[in-house]
Amino acid sequence: MTGVVNLLDFDLDGMAAFCEGLGEKRFRATQLFRWIHQRGAQDFAAMSDLAKSLREKLAGKAEIRPLPVVTEQISTDGTVKWLFDVGAGNAVETVFIPEDDRGTLCVSSQAGCAVGCRFCSTGHQGFSRNLTTGEILAQLWMAEHKLRERLGLKPGERAITNVVMMGMGEPLQNYNALVPALRVMLDDHAYGLSRRRVTVSTSGVVPMMDRLREDCPVALAVSLHAPIDALRDDLVPLNRKYPIAELMQACLRYLEAAPRDFITFEYCMLDGVNDTEDHARALLALVNGRGPNRVPCKLNLIPFNPFPASGLLRSPREQVMRFAKILQDGGLVTTVRKTRGDDIDAACGQLAGEVQDRTRASERMKRLPVPIVPLGSPLR
Ligand code: SF4
Repeated sequence: MTGVVNLLDFDLDGMAAFCEGLGEKRFRATQLFRWIHQRGAQDFAAMSDLAKSLREKLAGKAEIRPLPVVTEQISTDGTVKWLFDVGAGNAVETVFIPEDDRGTLCVSSQAGCAVGCRFCSTGHQGFSRNLTTGEILAQLWMAEHKLRERLGLKPGERAITNVVMMGMGEPLQNYNALVPALRVMLDDHAYGLSRRRVTVSTSGVVPMMDRLREDCPVALAVSLHAPIDALRDDLVPLNRKYPIAELMQACLRYLEAAPRDFITFEYCMLDGVNDTEDHARALLALVNGRGPNRVPCKLNLIPFNPFPASGLLRSPREQVMRFAKILQDGGLVTTVRKTRGDDIDAACGQLAGEVQDRTRASERMKRLPVPIVPLGSPLR
């Protein structure tokens, strides 16, 4: 462990406290924030409006610590996937998805995941550790500034307009690191993203949904995947602790403070498991009925990306469309997620495909023909 502080670990209040500890005024924190997050600076010597004495103090005590890039892959559809080394043989993935009107970054919050959803390759690899705030933000920091440079954007133009915490890990099981990272994403002195464009995706950690509503309400996506407890207990084991009725009540409470007036429910379509017409009708009755669990929502149907250990298959397209039609006819806004980055295994649920087994990942990282590329080196 280095004794040098990683400035990516701080939200603005944290940075201000750090500056005060150095005998500096609070506005220095704002200056540092702008240099680091808006301009992508890593070298204190380049921060020309900071007093020379402060730059010298910082040089010995602090750094902006990127995550080493193990691999970068670019899909034919423009999707970019990075594999970052987080030490001890662990790696996490980050995916950039460009669209006509937005650029979305899918960010990881943990190395592995303890929830163990049956259809998720990250869940099958087990839990290794929580990422720090600095490691969560390093994914955004590197991607934003690397993409700006690559796309030739002008000062003030952004490559990343939306962040979804949908990479590896259950973000609400890493709450203390997540919330400062979200605050930096929203901060006008940093990335300045609107709350509607930052989405936390959860498998349903009910007490933490309540805390997020109080501490930092952003858009919320809930991995639902089943309309009844017996099936959800099997697909999303966390359901045994927080069953569907409790989850729906938590969604309703969240909406009281949410920046959007709906919850997005994610539903991974698994052949013969959760994709029948009866399941569609049960789902409709759950979220769109007249009962106390009715939740204003949108449904996002996700084509499953099979991997051998799951023993599950992707629902045929016709079945997905039949399922979607039942929901749409019942008045539910329903979309079917386009798969992106298939050629680089960047589609939803494929994250961690490369690092399913931590031992193998560690060996592969040693074997890689390209050295780990530090930030600032050309990745192309
Ligand atoms: S779907 Fe999300 S919560 Fe479930 S195992 Fe995968 S990463 Fe964890």
